[in-house]
Amino acid sequence: MNRSVLPVRYSAAVTTAAALLVAAACGPSTDGTRDAEEIVRVFRGATLVDGTGAEPMTDAVVVVRGDRIEAVGRAGEIEVPDADVDESLEGLWIIPGLVDAHVHFGQSGWFDSRPDAMNLQTYHPYDEVIARLAATPELFSEAYLCSGVTSVFDVGGYGWSVGLQERGETDPRFVRVSATGPLLSTIDFWLSTEDDHQFVFLADSAAVREGVQANADLGASAIKIWYIVPPDQDSVRVFDLVRLTAAEADARNLPLVVHATGMWEAKNAIRAGADVLVHGVFDVEVDEEFLEMALEAGVIYTPTVTVTEGYRNVFNQVGTAGLPYPAGCADEGTRNLLDSELPSEWVPPAEMITQYEDFVAANRAVGIENLRRVQAAGVTIALGTDAGNPGTLHGPSVHYEAVVFQEAGMTPMEILVSATRDAARAMGRGADLGTIEPSKFADFAILRADPTANAANLREIARVVKGGRTVWPPE
Ligand SMILES: [Zn+2]
Repeated sequence: MNRSVLPVRYSAAVTTAAALLVAAACGPSTDGTRDAEEIVRVFRGATLVDGTGAEPMTDAVVVVRGDRIEAVGRAGEIEVPDADVDESLEGLWIIPGLVDAHVHFGQSGWFDSRPDAMNLQTYHPYDEVIARLAATPELFSEAYLCSGVTSVFDVGGYGWSVGLQERGETDPRFVRVSATGPLLSTIDFWLSTEDDHQFVFLADSAAVREGVQANADLGASAIKIWYIVPPDQDSVRVFDLVRLTAAEADARNLPLVVHATGMWEAKNAIRAGADVLVHGVFDVEVDEEFLEMALEAGVIYTPTVTVTEGYRNVFNQVGTAGLPYPAGCADEGTRNLLDSELPSEWVPPAEMITQYEDFVAANRAVGIENLRRVQAAGVTIALGTDAGNPGTLHGPSVHYEAVVFQEAGMTPMEILVSATRDAARAMGRGADLGTIEPSKFADFAILRADPTANAANLREIARVVKGGRTVWPPE
């Protein structure tokens, strides 16, 4: 099939970063008399799964002052201050808000924002699509909150995606964001609008320095490289540019996150100093050398096992009802796109679908096997979906990736940690997000079913709390 239709090289992501700690947001006082910073909320009675991997704690008490956690313990074993809001969560589970460590606000979840994979610009002009996405990021934010996700890592997009970082810290109802901004790419990729760009071609060392500086000036949390080496390029020269990018990022204290879906590129990314691999390796089963390198470097591995299935599902026009996860949290516009019919001239011929099915099956098998190997070796795994790619919807797709992790042999507890503490580390927010421990932000998902019994229970969302306040369901 046409190589351009293969989604294996897509994606973008970002990582770590000495997170911009925009001064914590203080919303309006809920009781009208006290400063929001001093409001004390007590959540009692739930079973606590704190995101550290520690055994669940029944009859837990979580004390929140303002937007931060003040104390955590078993009822009767910790001192509980007078509460402004005292809530019983009996019969429920409380976990850290989920984190998706690989998303793109500049992609819709359908082909209108990926004309490189299927060019529907006659019907959906790309510039208009991007303008719409830039104007309405709250639609995806709401889908995340609805899915129990309180923080995301946007690992590649237009400059405006970086501005979402501040919004996430100042708008109580907006999901927290780390963002890399435009991707520094080893290939000259065209996917940009007339007056803005999301790729910076690393043509030479000057382009590297300018690209890293521009993203640092934007306020990016990390530097993202799209590391792809076409056969006609000098791989040694490209590697030199990748290493220079790493050095330039390091000089600005910016973590380096790398898209490298081949083992050879992934090893080189680690050699260059990558902090996060925003995809798994999909071309071959990873070898001992890769595992040793990843472990030694402390690199975080984000498997993105299911993203190619999303493309297949959209090629096959399965609609929202045919997705392998409930799509209800997605906004209506996105659901309508998924449920719309492809123009007849763009419906892939049966032969192409068959080839693509084979590609996806192989990809999935290698992705799962590599996840198994990486996990067995003790490499840190962060859950990330590559949301925004066709069929991988912002928000609910996190629940499918989590369930597929179980197929790789991860326990529900390990999956929960990868989707909270370790995904927060991947986005550079490990110090203040990802676990339920004193001094961290009070971002929680409250569940109706036990997430340590089955990762599928992560979707049993009763409520979502961000910065101490209930943000889902909306009031
Ligand atoms: Zn991506």
